[in-house]
Amino acid sequence: MKRDKNIKGQIDFNLKNVKKTEVRLLTSGIRIVAQKGETSAACPYCGIVSNKVYEHRKQLILDKPSNDKKVEIELNKRRFVCVNSECSAKTFTENIEGLSSTRRYTRAFENYLKDLVSRKGYMEAQRFLQYKYGLNVSLTTLFYLNC
Ligand SMILES: [Zn+2]
Repeated sequence: MKRDKNIKGQIDFNLKNVKKTEVRLLTSGIRIVAQKGETSAACPYCGIVSNKVYEHRKQLILDKPSNDKKVEIELNKRRFVCVNSECSAKTFTENIEGLSSTRRYTRAFENYLKDLVSRKGYMEAQRFLQYKYGLNVSLTTLFYLNC
């Protein structure tokens, strides 16, 4: 168990301004539970800062493998109430930096995939991800990355 603790301390992930609240070692890899540290967020429409949380939503995001293990981030994303009565947005989701455009991966994971594809080709990259990390990444996703 001491070894597990050492691994946990070393785990880093690739989202900015997000802090890890928990690290779980699963047989399938590493799961990091994380959320933004700030208690408030600015509405993207009117810019007014709100600290009224409307709801929490969990989102699972893949990050670049670390220590030869799959890394997934369980992101606790918050939706805030816009406190500006003049604003057309009633609620808004906090912005998380470092996510890919699909928001299912971190940008670091996306770059890792691109690199893998350029070294191994699409088919081999897909097989490698499945075999090594148990990840099912479709060929469509891999094609799409390289556009
Ligand atoms: Zn607003």
